[in-house]
Amino acid sequence: MTDYNWCHGPECHTKSTQSRVRGSEDNKVLRTRKIKVRDYSDRHWFQGWENHFCNVSCFFDYMKIHWQEIVNIAPRSKAQETPIKVEKEKYESTRWDFNKGIEGRPQSVPYMATRTIIKSVDND
Ligand SMILES: [Zn+2]
Repeated sequence: MTDYNWCHGPECHTKSTQSRVRGSEDNKVLRTRKIKVRDYSDRHWFQGWENHFCNVSCFFDYMKIHWQEIVNIAPRSKAQETPIKVEKEKYESTRWDFNKGIEGRPQSVPYMATRTIIKSVDND
């Protein structure tokens, strides 16, 4: 396994940042960023692509070019569904009344509001 990957962002080597400047004197270039491969699989934020793209911008530049091939890897011809239970719940809330305010100022008035609660259903 390699210790480093080159960023897969197709435009990575064109972005003007100091971290990409390489070479000496009159032979300066902007170079694709090198990414140290790390195993952060125990961290909640780590998804793996971070070892191949230096940032989200390079990741999406790549996606814009290759999304068709990527969706072809696992095509979706049918909608997926997750069983749920929908419940309505009344609760006390307030709203602004702009007509009956004291001295013409809007007034906060209580009312019973309804909210929809989506609950997961155990399939086991
Ligand atoms: Zn990059």
